[in-house]
Amino acid sequence: MSEAPKDEGAYAHAHDDTNTIYSVAEEKNKKFLQFIEEVTANADEVQKRVLAEILSRNAHVECLKRHGLNGQTDRETFKKIMPVTTYEDIQPDVNRIANGDKSHIICSQPISEFLTSSGTSGGERKLMPTTEEELERRSLLYNLLMPVMSQFVPGLERGKGMYFVFIKSEVKTPGGLVAHPVLTSYYKSSHFKNRSFDPYTNYTSPNETILCPDSYQSMYSQMLCGLCLNKEVLRVGAVFASGFIRAIRFLEKHWSLLCNDIRTGTLNPQITDPSVREAVMKILKPDPQLAEFIEGECGMESWQGIITRLWPNTKYIDVIVTGTMSQYIPTLDYYSNGLPLVCTRYASSECFLGVNLNPLCKPSEVSYTLIPTVGYFEFLPVDRNNGVTNCISMPKSLNGKEKQELVDLADVKLGQEYELVVTTYAGLYRYRVGDVLRVAGFKNKAPQFNFICRKNVVLSIDTDKTDEVELQNAVKNAVSHLVPFDARVTDYTSYADTTTIPGHYVLFWELSLNGSTPIPPSVFEDCCLAVEESLNSVYRQGRVSDKSIGPLEIKIVEAGTFDKLMDHALSLGASINQYKTPRCVKFAPIVELLNSRVKASYSSPKCPKWVAGHKKWNINVK
Ligand code: AMP
Repeated sequence: MSEAPKDEGAYAHAHDDTNTIYSVAEEKNKKFLQFIEEVTANADEVQKRVLAEILSRNAHVECLKRHGLNGQTDRETFKKIMPVTTYEDIQPDVNRIANGDKSHIICSQPISEFLTSSGTSGGERKLMPTTEEELERRSLLYNLLMPVMSQFVPGLERGKGMYFVFIKSEVKTPGGLVAHPVLTSYYKSSHFKNRSFDPYTNYTSPNETILCPDSYQSMYSQMLCGLCLNKEVLRVGAVFASGFIRAIRFLEKHWSLLCNDIRTGTLNPQITDPSVREAVMKILKPDPQLAEFIEGECGMESWQGIITRLWPNTKYIDVIVTGTMSQYIPTLDYYSNGLPLVCTRYASSECFLGVNLNPLCKPSEVSYTLIPTVGYFEFLPVDRNNGVTNCISMPKSLNGKEKQELVDLADVKLGQEYELVVTTYAGLYRYRVGDVLRVAGFKNKAPQFNFICRKNVVLSIDTDKTDEVELQNAVKNAVSHLVPFDARVTDYTSYADTTTIPGHYVLFWELSLNGSTPIPPSVFEDCCLAVEESLNSVYRQGRVSDKSIGPLEIKIVEAGTFDKLMDHALSLGASINQYKTPRCVKFAPIVELLNSRVKASYSSPKCPKWVAGHKKWNINVK
């Protein structure tokens, strides 16, 4: 079996008979779990077959011919001939496709759209080509999540999921292809919109509320429906932890308006989208008792446990808290009184990657089993310098020896860290995803990986990923505002402050002041804005459109602070010769040390520029 089972119409004959529905669910779950057993037991064979299938289907595509693969489909030849690639390597092909070249450049199937990755290149989101078939594959893999979950939390088919999910703006390439984020692609597709009845995709949010492009209307209507159906909710979530916290924050601001709607059974006039209004009005009924209950809970001074108070049957929170999202765990624990935080999946724009087969484990122990049918996986061993920044320095292109070091899925070693390299059905060949994973164990013959970090990323609040080089450039641009005052930044570091909601970037600056004119606060505010203007489009979108990132803050620290930081590192055993100021700090005592020496702090007075649907197209196609 090389694909996840199809299950369309499994409930077609169940009608409204709940007992039949539950037994169909049980049968279906078994089928999916059996699939996982089989593909993990035969991980290596499946991988071999997947690669051969990808290469034989695409034997005549330009990109494989260019390297002289000549239709060969075996692993050895593929590994010998094909280079390991980064986005910069594939960008010329991506640009040709974006500009309308329909020849078979990377894939024998037509490229149906681009998925915009939150990883950036030159400040813009990366474009990942995809196909109709790949979208279908992804949709089938989403079906694996609930059967796994149901083994640990029975009865989930008897209630609803309250998920706060949203679509984002899309752009059209010059050649007419749509480019949008992967989940937007899924929610807008018929796989989601026209899904047949399934108790596991029974959500409190009507499709229309998810598909509403206006973020306020979408959030408001989803929250309202979630509140109206509060007793039926068995699980709550969002994609990433940051998104779920944003929803709670929204409730903090708007509960009184929401309660008003519930009391009267009428909908806030700010919800103007007719399809959203119609969908919500099917759920909203005057319910003064419920309104009073919600007001009572939300009006209390403490919001500790608000999730379990308002949605009393909730069994877990389904959000990703691995990687940089782990910074939100304490906040989620507070709001949920310690409900299990469940990370179900690991996925990217390149392809769906893996599933957590032990979803009730502690967040720090989460591991993902890569599904061997998704694509062909290789692993580049990583030696991380254990710096505070989690930054990994790796060559952009690999030499022959390093290329040979890439190991197959079935050959990874327990405890070793690797960078993930994928070959997909949609035409990525030996592509470096940029994630670092550690082997935590095995499911049958398939490895299970802890997500360690995103290569090079130092700061992240939501889906933004800022690396050291971008940060450096942004600071460089900002300090030009200090030149007229004969002031310089002698050293700096940064911190992702998630104690505020939304979280925000903090820069600690130590200054050398030679001029006699005091620097007015407005100049530092201009510096804040200049940093933000220099950061990538995902960051700016988070600030402007999603409001998932708060205004950037610059904290001026006393002279000598960075010496103290070095003393601290030396006291912990760092070598004086090798000491480098970390460009990002995470360790609480260091953040405390910096904060204890802050003389003044300034925040961005307004949002940086970001335009929906804007993308600079590189039309200089070679
Ligand atoms: P995107 O291409 O924008 O969908 O982002 C995909 C990236 O998000 C992955 O390459 C990871 O870096 C990150 N990501 C996705 N799922 C997880 C997860 N479960 N845990 C940690 N990071 C994740």
